[in-house]
Amino acid sequence: MNQIIKDARSLAIAILCFFSTTAIAQNISSEPAEGGGAYPYGRNDAGNPCISPAQYKAIERRVADNIQLLKLNPHNEQRTTTTLFSWPLREAAGFTDCSYYFITNYVDQDATTGIKDYNCGTVTYDGHRGTDIATGPYPFYKMDNNQVDVIAAAPGTIIDKSDGYFDRNCVMNTDTANYIIIQHADGSLALYWHMKKYSLTSKIVGQTVAVGEFLGVVGSSGDATGPHLHFEVWANTLSSSLNDPYAGTCNLLNSTTWWTTQKPYTEPAVLKAQVNLIAPVLPACPTTETPNQDTCFNPGASVRFYFFLRNETIGDTAHLRIINPDGSTFYTWTHNSTTDYIASYWYWVRTLPSFTGVYTFETIYNGITCSTNFAVNCGTLGATSVTELSQITVYPNPANNTLNLEMKNIDNGTYQVTLKNVVGQPVMTRDAAVADNALQQTFSIATLPNGIYFLTIESGNTRIVRKIVKQN
Ligand SMILES: [Zn+2]
Repeated sequence: MNQIIKDARSLAIAILCFFSTTAIAQNISSEPAEGGGAYPYGRNDAGNPCISPAQYKAIERRVADNIQLLKLNPHNEQRTTTTLFSWPLREAAGFTDCSYYFITNYVDQDATTGIKDYNCGTVTYDGHRGTDIATGPYPFYKMDNNQVDVIAAAPGTIIDKSDGYFDRNCVMNTDTANYIIIQHADGSLALYWHMKKYSLTSKIVGQTVAVGEFLGVVGSSGDATGPHLHFEVWANTLSSSLNDPYAGTCNLLNSTTWWTTQKPYTEPAVLKAQVNLIAPVLPACPTTETPNQDTCFNPGASVRFYFFLRNETIGDTAHLRIINPDGSTFYTWTHNSTTDYIASYWYWVRTLPSFTGVYTFETIYNGITCSTNFAVNCGTLGATSVTELSQITVYPNPANNTLNLEMKNIDNGTYQVTLKNVVGQPVMTRDAAVADNALQQTFSIATLPNGIYFLTIESGNTRIVRKIVKQN
């Protein structure tokens, strides 16, 4: 074929593809979910306080005794230096969900019987003194599989520690929690409560920990109604010196934030996208949930597409898409939020195509993409489990200045990563060497014109394409 005709044909195909993509984009509709709603989780309340008044008295005594034994500084003077916290939780190695937590209670700033959090909202219960960070979806599954670590939010000395107590509580009780208390250089304390039995660091009282160091696994020990971390801050060794790490209009305890980077009051995001042949099982606390996530399906199977959300907000729209092995769209739809939830989930049933290959279920909410891969005719691809399929995350999308690409569980080798415009012209190309089965790339796209782009990742027989929207 003569080159000009070939080029003309390529251009015609590209234009055709562009218009058909546009046509599909215009027809994306909101489709009611087959099911879903609020995701069930345990949440402490005034009748089930995370730490009881009697326990606070006991903590103060133990801390005072340990300070005397270890000859540590009680630091009960005015705080003179500043402790700043990083996030006290971390997903364990090998974890492939998009996120893993949601906040169920902040510190109660209302000294009377009312409730008010630092942001003047009501995400708290009467008398609550910490930040409750729940894990999900599947909190007991996460606990059983050690998927969420509690880590030191700031460096310091272990000043009290408790382990060996029952960790599957669901109702009010007077049980002792598995916990660690750390004293920082300025004399302030951080309390890490409700951890999993026998999961705690082997370090003992008096030893120091670095920021980010492993302390234990999120559990439901002590007075808890489900797995969560209760993170509490005291300015000194007396419980009366309570602080709230979040700065906000209604924080009456302290005027500045204690976070290195304070997270927003709500963080709308997709926690997890998953594809199932049968529904996940969500039994009552404390039975471990069964996710029933599948990655290998028969051609034409009728399957369920689930996504789990944090802080779903009224009026928001999530975009969902099933992507063919060649990067084109098999099916796309939207989900419109009509209720506020701290945690929620929704699912749709779709009939899969019949051709063999690795597909992607992509969800985009609040500018963040969360995807999971699955295969049709898995056996012929040689993959039999989710860990054998690569995980791809592109965010934010739409993007304005910077675009991030993250891939996990990919073969080692050299990948050519190319950003192309809608007519297929490369606007950015780079080679990326992968040695540890993971690829992370950041693209500066500030100078590119607004519009639709395609990010292509290629190596040997692998070719993955993602549609990106650039918008200022
Ligand atoms: Zn709490």
